[in-house]
Amino acid sequence: MNRAFGGLSRFVLPAAVLLSLTLMLAQPAFAQLKVLACEPEWAALVQELAADKVSVFSATAALQDAHHIEARPSLIARARNADLVVCSGSELEAGWLPLLLRQSGNERIQPGKPGYLETSQLVPRLEVPKVLDRSLGDIHAAGNPHIHLDPRNIAIVAQVLGDRLAQLDPVNANDYRTRTAAFLARWRDATRRWEAEAAPLKGLTMVVYHKNMSYLSAWLGLREGGSLEPKPGIPPTTAHLADLVARMQIEPANVIVYVAYNNPQAAEYLSARTKIPAVMLPFTVGGSDRAKDLFGLFDDTLARLLAVLK
Ligand SMILES: [Zn+2]
Repeated sequence: MNRAFGGLSRFVLPAAVLLSLTLMLAQPAFAQLKVLACEPEWAALVQELAADKVSVFSATAALQDAHHIEARPSLIARARNADLVVCSGSELEAGWLPLLLRQSGNERIQPGKPGYLETSQLVPRLEVPKVLDRSLGDIHAAGNPHIHLDPRNIAIVAQVLGDRLAQLDPVNANDYRTRTAAFLARWRDATRRWEAEAAPLKGLTMVVYHKNMSYLSAWLGLREGGSLEPKPGIPPTTAHLADLVARMQIEPANVIVYVAYNNPQAAEYLSARTKIPAVMLPFTVGGSDRAKDLFGLFDDTLARLLAVLK
């Protein structure tokens, strides 16, 4: 009896050791935090603050319009495994994020949980409607969600995001805090440089494609002289473009801007008839060759606008 038991334990012990070794290999001692960002700018910010401590995936690419994507199965799988979801919020992703969160079955990333961060809620929002009138187009009740082209907003989000990463992954908390502080110092210097470089842009009047330049305009003192969309979220129409051509004859803008994911046709049409230059802006990280990271995004955006003045 004893011998039989001894024989069994000799067999069981190595198996248990083997099993725990297998588990250790499958799940490294420092399991990486998994972050799902809704837009490339937030994925890039996570990358700045976390480097190799997390794996980060962006639900949308620079050539996609984040208002309109599908909650496809591969995204739902990402959401199911995510420790943290970082999105602009304020209804920008209203067409797909609620479904994605619901389908994920992941309690940790639901609104109100530490694994859910809505960046637009952290900053003072522009264009909060006094009366919500959906007939005016794709109006966001919580205000304009496209907050990231004001670098001061990026700094506010970085602070909260750095803290959130530290909270969710305490083992690496010091790393996140150190990297966040270093990022904020570099970002403050860069913001000062951008403000100096962009001084000649003050008062520049833009025709925008969509109302997604408002924070850039507010930061640099730019003006908006119209939009190619007749109403937010409604694609340009011939009648509306004809109106704009007439309006530009009376009050010409300095530049027509559209972004990497827009069809350039409407901007080119207006440009051809008004001789106002049309400029493509990267809008987010990956939207142009130079916009490889958040610093490049602002460098390139300002360079493209400054080129209009030359
Ligand atoms: Zn929008």
